[in-house]
Amino acid sequence: MNDDVYLDNNATTMVDPAVVDEMLPYFTLQFGNPSSIHSFGNTVGRSLKKARQQVQDLLGAEHDSEIIFTACGTEADSTAIMSALKAQPDRKEIITTVVEHPAVLSLCEYLEKDGYTVHWLKVDGKGRLDLDVYARLLEERADHIAVVSVMWANNETGTIFPVEKMATMAVDAGVMFHTDAVQAVGKIPMNLADSDIDMLSLSGHKLHAPKGVGVLYLRRGTRFRPLLRGGHQERGRRAGTENVASIIGLGKACELASQKMEYENVEVKAMRDRLQEGILSAVTHCFPTGDVENRLPNTCNIAFEYIEGEAILMLLNKAGIAASSGSACTSGSLEPSHVMMAMGIPYTAAHGTIRFSLSCYNTMAEIERVIEAVPPIVAQLRKLSPYWGENGPIEDPAKLFAPTYA
Ligand code: PLP
Repeated sequence: MNDDVYLDNNATTMVDPAVVDEMLPYFTLQFGNPSSIHSFGNTVGRSLKKARQQVQDLLGAEHDSEIIFTACGTEADSTAIMSALKAQPDRKEIITTVVEHPAVLSLCEYLEKDGYTVHWLKVDGKGRLDLDVYARLLEERADHIAVVSVMWANNETGTIFPVEKMATMAVDAGVMFHTDAVQAVGKIPMNLADSDIDMLSLSGHKLHAPKGVGVLYLRRGTRFRPLLRGGHQERGRRAGTENVASIIGLGKACELASQKMEYENVEVKAMRDRLQEGILSAVTHCFPTGDVENRLPNTCNIAFEYIEGEAILMLLNKAGIAASSGSACTSGSLEPSHVMMAMGIPYTAAHGTIRFSLSCYNTMAEIERVIEAVPPIVAQLRKLSPYWGENGPIEDPAKLFAPTYA
């Protein structure tokens, strides 16, 4: 532990010490293979069942057999989409959105090249979907669509999509519905038993469990084809010896997330709101991106006009503050993120977006420290910016940017 402030929890989270405690015996004394029929295996098998129930409880799923452990969120996403295509070979179309995480986006782009048709739902300036467009698409193409895959919450802006409503619309049209809920699980309450969602992906390392473990929720009765074939683990739906310790950790993390749900939505949200208000009131020419009225309680993404997000990040890092300039996968690239571009954020602002993502481990004192650190960093960078003059932005800097990206 050090004094640095970690505000990059949408990239990954610290494993909760109580989760580590729960996991430790499964590296040593409890080392049995849960598939073995002797006592070593049986004890571990019972612990896996408990973890499955803990996940079931957090999701509000009907039955623990609906929980399939995977190696990560990406695997759960791929399994869901590929299963829907394999199980319905006569359906060659997919509906998804332009703002998905690469785990879904890249797969759909690949499938497009492979001959499938992907209907990409666009978003408006606040990152919201147009449900009329979606309804029309379902009406016109329902018989051809294998699956709708729409993220529950966006990893960059925290914007929440109305997936429960969208699932009902899909299921009414006879179409399977999957949601990538990697960012939403543990941050907002869920009750899958009362929804029409057929499949849902989650990832351990976003909710204080270890990296390298995830879950595919598969509603009972949903047609399914495994991605990995081999042993009979996970009832034959995901072959491969289970990552026992991490699964135990994920179960514990889900139990803790249920207990902390209110704290997340009251205290963490209050810290996020204070952070945003503190920055917006001290810095000119910056604005929050996404649907600020309808977003995850821990996330705020602020666009600082006329400066580079990467430069802000470097100076923040020097000041002992860790944030991100988009999703973990896009930071490092000089192109603005696909999410900002999809919302039509101008280049002069899209290049300067910073995502602050909090967790229950942050404190108000840390937030005040960030609020103090940001304005001088922005001022320092704007002094160096060719688009910033003595009295603020120089005349129409958008024109200056335009030729580079024409
Ligand atoms: N989906 C979303 C929305 C994410 O934010 C991430 C990770 O950043 C993933 C999927 C991928 O999860 P994993 O890292 O477990 O593969």
